Amino acid sequence: MSKVIIIGGGAAGMMAAVAALDNSSEVVIYDGNEKLGKKIYITGKGRCNLTNACDISEYFENIISNDKFLYSALYSFTNDDVISFFEENGCPIKVERGNRAFPRSDKSSDIIKTLERYIKSNGAKIVLNTKVKSIIYENNKANNDNEKDAFVKRAIGVKLSDNTKDYADNIIVATGGLSYQTTGSTGDGLQFAKDSGHKVMPCRPALVPFEVKEDYIIKLQGLSLKNVTLSICCNNKRIYDGFGEMLFTHFGVSGPLVLSASSVVGKYFDTSSTLKGVVDLKPALSYNQLDERILRDINNNRNKEFKSLVAGLLPSKMVDVIINMLNVDSHLKLNGLTKVKRQELVHLLKEFTFTITKTRDYKEAIITQGGVSVGDINPSTMESNLVKGLFFAGEVIDIDALTGGFNLQLAFSTGHLAGVNASINN
Ligand SMILES: Cc1cc2nc3c(=O)[nH]c(=O)nc-3n(C[C@H](O)[C@H](O)[C@H](O)COP(=O)(O)OP(=O)(O)OC[C@H]3O[C@@H](n4cnc5c(N)ncnc54)[C@H](O)[C@@H]3O)c2cc1C
Repeated sequence: MSKVIIIGGGAAGMMAAVAALDNSSEVVIYDGNEKLGKKIYITGKGRCNLTNACDISEYFENIISNDKFLYSALYSFTNDDVISFFEENGCPIKVERGNRAFPRSDKSSDIIKTLERYIKSNGAKIVLNTKVKSIIYENNKANNDNEKDAFVKRAIGVKLSDNTKDYADNIIVATGGLSYQTTGSTGDGLQFAKDSGHKVMPCRPALVPFEVKEDYIIKLQGLSLKNVTLSICCNNKRIYDGFGEMLFTHFGVSGPLVLSASSVVGKYFDTSSTLKGVVDLKPALSYNQLDERILRDINNNRNKEFKSLVAGLLPSKMVDVIINMLNVDSHLKLNGLTKVKRQELVHLLKEFTFTITKTRDYKEAIITQGGVSVGDINPSTMESNLVKGLFFAGEVIDIDALTGGFNLQLAFSTGHLAGVNASINN
């Protein structure tokens, strides 16, 4: 029987434990928190969108970083496997709009309880309030006569925060990324990886809101826009186009459309200090169609005020903002509106523009982009290419996806694959 130490009792670590126990390993999980799955608890606004029930081949369209690396993991433990695991262990699952899967109870705590019950009843040792401080290695002589002087580095144990040590055949690092650090993911695994010579790709917050420079955006705080198009440009090059819902806040913009955009464009802040956001408030109409519609409104209401025209086109919170930007008297009668101002209005509705100065920080980021380089991990096993007996799983790896249950699925799939392979004593 091989012994597996798992560092981190989050989604990836607990699913790694399930797989290792299923493969007859002795399992010990260490977590710095007072309970398991602290981050799972806050997922999906407390409901836990645990996976996405789309065809597994569609996953790759929703993965932002390193989709090819995830092929083995996703196909060896699929979204159907995740759903079956929970259903077979007493937690029924329902599928909602956009194929988002949730526990039927709408309680993320049921996902945690199911995992915890399974690993406890199958004999795992769970050690809480205990952080792993470092990993213990030994250098073994290569088991190959042709490589007389070659040594193989091997992970053999862990040093703990209570100054004790524990040893195992294999060790799985499932410590998460850097976001929402109050849940315990403080980047320790990234340091363990660096210390043992692994490349760690630069990290940044992702699925995160944007800060915006202009005061007129801040005046819109609380406003939510549905069915709009958001484009983002960097040095006049369009780097993102999306359609959906966005929200104005006291610092800038948020909402599903903005969160998705942040995962795609965050990396551009590495080389550029600002990005340009452009919202098309009337995406169903072309410039000409919108101009014709406004002209018709003007001709039918020539004695009405400019403010009433704008109010018929936009949510009330935007009316004064747009009128101020156009520098038109809100009481102006429509028969006095010049063609130039009418066209400026059309332009503003089609290209409502603002300056994005940065993303918010890790405290508000749903995930971390970056992490242990996939070039240093075997995609078929999740074992390090540099250190024998050392495996990685979940958000600590340089993998990330859009919202919709995809990130938890990546944690479950990579955790499961690591758990299976860490059970093989080699
Ligand atoms: C607010 C929010 C909502 C989200 N909603 C969803 C959603 O609905 N659907 C979805 O798919 N994804 C969602 N995500 C993303 C998802 O939660 C993560 O991608 C996923 O939890 C990552 O799992 P993990 O096991 O890799 O890391 P984590 O869940 O972060 O677990 C890491 C664990 O390692 C422990 N640890 C760290 N360092 C040490 C150490 N040195 N010693 C011992 N233990 C250590 C930590 O205490 C922690 O318990 C959400 C994220 C947030 C922040």
